[in-house]
Amino acid sequence: MRVLLIEDEEPLRVVVADSLRDEGYRVLTAADGVHGLQTAVDQEPDLILLDVMLPKLDGFAVCAELRRRGQHMPVLMLTAKGLVDDRVRGLDAGADDYLVKPFSLAELHARLRALLRRSQVQGSGPSEVQLGDVTVCLAERQCRRGKIPIAMTAKEFGVLQLLIEHAGKTVTREQFLDLVWGYAAFPTTRTVDNHIARIRSKIEPDPKRPAYILTVPKSGYRLRVGA
Ligand code: CA
Repeated sequence: MRVLLIEDEEPLRVVVADSLRDEGYRVLTAADGVHGLQTAVDQEPDLILLDVMLPKLDGFAVCAELRRRGQHMPVLMLTAKGLVDDRVRGLDAGADDYLVKPFSLAELHARLRALLRRSQVQGSGPSEVQLGDVTVCLAERQCRRGKIPIAMTAKEFGVLQLLIEHAGKTVTREQFLDLVWGYAAFPTTRTVDNHIARIRSKIEPDPKRPAYILTVPKSGYRLRVGA
């Protein structure tokens, strides 16, 4: 597993990188946002540890730009402030989780393992699913219309993947929160609805009248099969 650590404070960068190497990860490092983004795109690490306050390009911008370029690896934001605003901004930018500084190395390692576990593609089932003219490639965690990639955040893809895994059956909002978000503190069922709306706008021919992702009243959502 390759982890990219984007952190400008050198002492912290050294300590974290060493501890990750001790845990058996291969570690890439960058000390500013521009270099970090370039390294992420060039090297496609399995996971990114991303500081918020960075020279040249901040962590929010790095994360948003990665997602815009169709990179779906898990991103764990390192925020110094711990403000709700920062967490929301990070999650909105496409981050998967956040850790408030100062954090313990043990907690960092636990979060990394959880994120990597969640991002592993299940071994069974089809590797590609066709929804109209949209192809969902589960192995590569990418969607495309024809040959054109559709930018999705890791969470949006996770929601879509869960629907595909349960095609034809209702997935409740609680199941989404449990299985896609996996930690109870921040998201609300409204978060699920917002993600569904964004996915519909990206893959549905007419997002106002969904052909694939159907609403199940008072419960959740269901992927129509054979549509
Ligand atoms: Ca910093």
